[in-house]
Amino acid sequence: MKKGDCIFCKIAGGEIPSKTLYEDESFRVILDLGPATKGHALILPKEHAKDIYELPQETASEVFVLAKKMAVRMVEKLHCDGLNVVQNNGEAAGQTVPHFHIHLIPRYQNDGQIINWTPGKPSQEELEAVRVLISE
Ligand code: AMP
Ligand code: ZN
Repeated sequence: MKKGDCIFCKIAGGEIPSKTLYEDESFRVILDLGPATKGHALILPKEHAKDIYELPQETASEVFVLAKKMAVRMVEKLHCDGLNVVQNNGEAAGQTVPHFHIHLIPRYQNDGQIINWTPGKPSQEELEAVRVLISE
């Protein structure tokens, strides 16, 4: 996708209006239009990168600092009981908008949302094979 066609580029740049919670020269934080819970927010870098693999190193190092600041503020203001930080890369992982973003999802007791996976039961040998694959 070209940058000019990217909806999150347009939102991050202010070309399309959004419910903005925070903005600086590198990022805009907005409310998700299809929130999982009250206060579900998205951190959008202003510079287009499709996913975490394309994200410039400097943006990567700044974005989690901002996620932490926003999380602290959101818990304080929303009085939520927990908060999920979610970041999807690729269709197989549930990414629907190909512009890197971090979800901040406030959680409330019994909010009915499920962010979950079924735990596997790998053998020690299988774990070791994966460890070797990734680390060496
Ligand atoms: P993902 O599935 O990780 O790519 O997340 C995309 C998110 O963007 C979803 O939670 C959508 O509800 C949200 N979304 C899509 N379009 C907009 C928009 N125009 N403004 C705000 N949130 C949006
Ligand atoms: Zn973009």
